[in-house]
Amino acid sequence: MLAELKGLNEECGVFGIWGHPEAAQITYYGLHSLQHRGQEGTGIVVTDGEQLKGRKGEGLVTEIFTADAMEDLQGVGAIGHVRYATAGGGGYENVQPLLFQSQSGGLALAHNGNLVNADALRNQLEAQGSIFQTSSDTEVLAHLIKRGGFSQMRDRVKNALPMLKGAYAFLIMTETEFMVALDPHGLRPLSLGRLGDAYVVASETCAFDIIGAEFVRDILPGELLVIDADGLHSEMYSMSSSTAICTMEYIYFSRPDSNIHGINVHAARKNLGKQLAKEVPIQADVVTGVPDSSISAAIGYAEESGIPYEMGLIKNRYVGRTFIQPSQSLREQGVKMKLSPVRGIVEGKRVIMVDDSIVRGTTSRRIVKMLKEAGATEVHVVISSPPIQNPCFYGIDTSTREELIASEHSVEEIRELIGADSLTFLSVEGMLEAIGRNEPGETRGQCLACFTGKYPTEIYPQAVSAGQKC
Ligand code: SF4
Repeated sequence: MLAELKGLNEECGVFGIWGHPEAAQITYYGLHSLQHRGQEGTGIVVTDGEQLKGRKGEGLVTEIFTADAMEDLQGVGAIGHVRYATAGGGGYENVQPLLFQSQSGGLALAHNGNLVNADALRNQLEAQGSIFQTSSDTEVLAHLIKRGGFSQMRDRVKNALPMLKGAYAFLIMTETEFMVALDPHGLRPLSLGRLGDAYVVASETCAFDIIGAEFVRDILPGELLVIDADGLHSEMYSMSSSTAICTMEYIYFSRPDSNIHGINVHAARKNLGKQLAKEVPIQADVVTGVPDSSISAAIGYAEESGIPYEMGLIKNRYVGRTFIQPSQSLREQGVKMKLSPVRGIVEGKRVIMVDDSIVRGTTSRRIVKMLKEAGATEVHVVISSPPIQNPCFYGIDTSTREELIASEHSVEEIRELIGADSLTFLSVEGMLEAIGRNEPGETRGQCLACFTGKYPTEIYPQAVSAGQKC
């Protein structure tokens, strides 16, 4: 499904490299492969060993980093970021990496996730005299690092991280050190790779394939990696109680060619589709998927059910960011601009339409209507995830609980509202089985909070209204 239409928006993506003479250029390619995680702003900070230099802007990677802009970014270490901003959280100053300069040196930060206690920490810090430059939750870490009473940067970082609650994959860079930290539940994906002698870190492994890097391993929940002239050092700043990787990364956010904890995203989605076909056998003529993220699940459903997969919906790839607008009226228009039914495929047919999730329901209603107007005799909507009934506080903009159609309505009511002939969601157990993680425990090391309401961390009241997510 198309994120910007559905109201389930990606968080952000981070990429970093240490020990390569073309660090900024490689970061450009890495960020480009993570562009699906955020299209509103992007930035790169580079170090030549003596000073940090950055460039950032609101726009796509190719728009901000022209050949001239890249000329300016020379160095051996770099961190980069692509950003999605929720309403009220945008603006140039919030585009990352955030770069701070002081007499003791520079500090650059790039963050994927959302800190649920950011407001509480910010209030405390402001009361103690801190002045914030941005409204980003990420800046809280910079202040905590700066206030730590240790002489070594790594000790300051290690001291600050346990104060943070929520989801975070941080890349932290000074002139001479590169640090990587993942929250104690490992809510967001983060992997380590090698490119020759250089180390690379990225939100998704697809970035390694693009630059020709070799995957080494996933960063561990609660791990702090420090890379400097002496090589790589790993230590646990927190002993994780339980891993809780975001399930929606498998279902929807990540690229199909990425692997998360050893599981290929396309394969997981295909299995979700197969599982759906086992749970929900439907009599129909064709199976189609809502492009792009639901195609893998639709192929799986078709394979398992024996009903042919057809391209019943086409995505118009040449609609630019102009149409990524938050207002409801433009969202409605956006569906028409971005998706078209293929009349020759669906006319006179009973269609199974596979989608990965339903958030507000408005997009599903439009697509069902489009398919019927194109001549489909029946449209059966099957969703490769359980109903999303709870908001996410960990960096995914799932809107408020009231906007989530499944929090207010039964499955039958949703079916009626979207105009489908039938509507089925995947069970939580079926979803866990299909993704296939082997971790012990009921949740198999996954966060399921938007489906079950059981949040892996404490939730602070302020987080409910947090407008700033990354
Ligand atoms: S609440 Fe849902 S979207 Fe948010 S981290 Fe958990 S699984 Fe992912």
